[in-house]
Amino acid sequence: MAKIYFDKDVDRTVLEGKVLGIVGYGNQGRAQALNLRDSGFQVIIGNRQDASWDQAREDGFPVYTVAETASQADILLLLVPDEVAPQVYEEDIAQNLREGKVIDFASGYNITFGFIIPPPTVDVVMVAPRMIGQGVRDTFIQGRGFPSLLGIHQDPSGQALDIALAIAQGIGSTRMGAVMSSFDEETLVDLFSEHLDYIYAIRRAYEVLVEAGCSPEVVLLEWYASGEAIAGAKAIMEMGLWGQLPLHSRTSQYGQEVWTRLSPEEDEAAKAKLREVIDDIRSGRFAQEWMREQQAGMPNFKRIRKENLTHPMLAEEKRLYRVLGREIKDPEEIT
Ligand code: NDP
Repeated sequence: MAKIYFDKDVDRTVLEGKVLGIVGYGNQGRAQALNLRDSGFQVIIGNRQDASWDQAREDGFPVYTVAETASQADILLLLVPDEVAPQVYEEDIAQNLREGKVIDFASGYNITFGFIIPPPTVDVVMVAPRMIGQGVRDTFIQGRGFPSLLGIHQDPSGQALDIALAIAQGIGSTRMGAVMSSFDEETLVDLFSEHLDYIYAIRRAYEVLVEAGCSPEVVLLEWYASGEAIAGAKAIMEMGLWGQLPLHSRTSQYGQEVWTRLSPEEDEAAKAKLREVIDDIRSGRFAQEWMREQQAGMPNFKRIRKENLTHPMLAEEKRLYRVLGREIKDPEEIT
């Protein structure tokens, strides 16, 4: 069983007198900075001079450029989007990573694929929340916390795990449990769940049900607009995948559990497809293609997004949400 750490396992003294520099005051950056400060740690912020910079100032933090933060901080939390992190690292961080410093990531991506290669003289750790930024702050205030995955990539100080645990404690994660993992494992499970064809599966269901004569409103409510899916996901989280089944009607249970069950051969074929997903991730094929796509100015991303935004489902969604009193973006506003 994976080792899970809680508050009682943490020695906060490893961060005593240390300056924690948060690079990127976005979803994770702001939430983690506020939680760490409330936990009694000394926090400074590094960001571009824009609205996020102003927000950090307004929140009462000392704010500097990324390079200044990298130079001043003992522990650097790199909380910019994964696809821009290599450039930020090269331009402003690499030359400031003196021996004995620590760099902390919130995802395994850039270390796993070698897009960032820190010098061997610094500790490289990962505290990857299994929670969106808003939830990182909200669950901290509520006192519940949230899980994180821990990884140690380099440990020249011999204290990397203690430091990762102290960060996890400071952001509120060891209240619920910080799980020992690795950069590669985090990268695999994170990308895997994003490669499961989820949005297209919903759109396909929409298309065939509308084709079968159902109204778009009924289909959208059934799939996600009602919030029933959230209640279902919450029940799974609280009661377990099988434990929550009795919340559904017997007819629903028969459909979900018996009618949809694949034959052993079909099950094996479905798993073979999933193994291909794993192979695309582990081999670096996905990461390399995504890197090339960005370097080329994202032509495929832009083209496919544009095609998707012309789908009639979006107009129906907008119409339904307006009737329900919710305003959502027009397709042309979605970037
Ligand atoms: P955000 O997109 O919310 O953060 C953006 C921050 O990075 C902003 O402060 C932004 O500055 C800055 N930034 C963006 N582009 C640049 C650039 N080119 N140069 C300098 N700064 C830039 O990121 P997240 O918080 O979502 O992600 C941060 C890390 O957390 C990632 O490693 C991600 O994988 C991980 N993570 C994210 C989760 C989530 O739910 N969002 C969950 C778990 C982990 P500005 O305001 O100036 O644009």
